[in-house]
Amino acid sequence: MKFVILSRDGVINRVPVNGVRQPDDWVPLPGSLEALARLQREGYRALVTTVQPGVAGGAPRMETLNRIHVRMLESIRNKGGQVDAVFVCPHAADAGCHCRPPSPGLYEEIAERLKINLSSAYAACATVDEAAAARAAGAQAVLLGGSGVLAPGQEVDFDSLGDFVDALISGRVER
Ligand SMILES: [Zn+2]
Repeated sequence: MKFVILSRDGVINRVPVNGVRQPDDWVPLPGSLEALARLQREGYRALVTTVQPGVAGGAPRMETLNRIHVRMLESIRNKGGQVDAVFVCPHAADAGCHCRPPSPGLYEEIAERLKINLSSAYAACATVDEAAAARAAGAQAVLLGGSGVLAPGQEVDFDSLGDFVDALISGRVER
């Protein structure tokens, strides 16, 4: 089984200045839904991670976050894609949890829940911390640009999810 773990914000959807706080804030990046559909057709299983420290302060509330994810999953399905599960770090940034990147907890949880070795998984990441977390858990991480969240001049592996998926499917991504 082939796995791709995708960060939500900056990989699948745009990153609004104040974050995605309600379903209407969730807007896919150009080509991301089509890329997820291609992964599905090629037999990859897709999982999503997201770091939502706002939940600790009630913005968004967990119930609203769930509605945001319903909208996301419906949008992905409507284009022919499929996401197996969404893994969330809902803790405050200063809580010291093990699931906030660059700590690897979110990725380790995926490995545990799916009973897989992450050495066979790719992680498409929007931040340097996410890529570090994925690598620490044993996954092959790629950093995508285009999200607007990276520091100016930060080197990226691919400009977009579409570019990464194209390369992955045509065998141009090195392990
Ligand atoms: Zn956490």
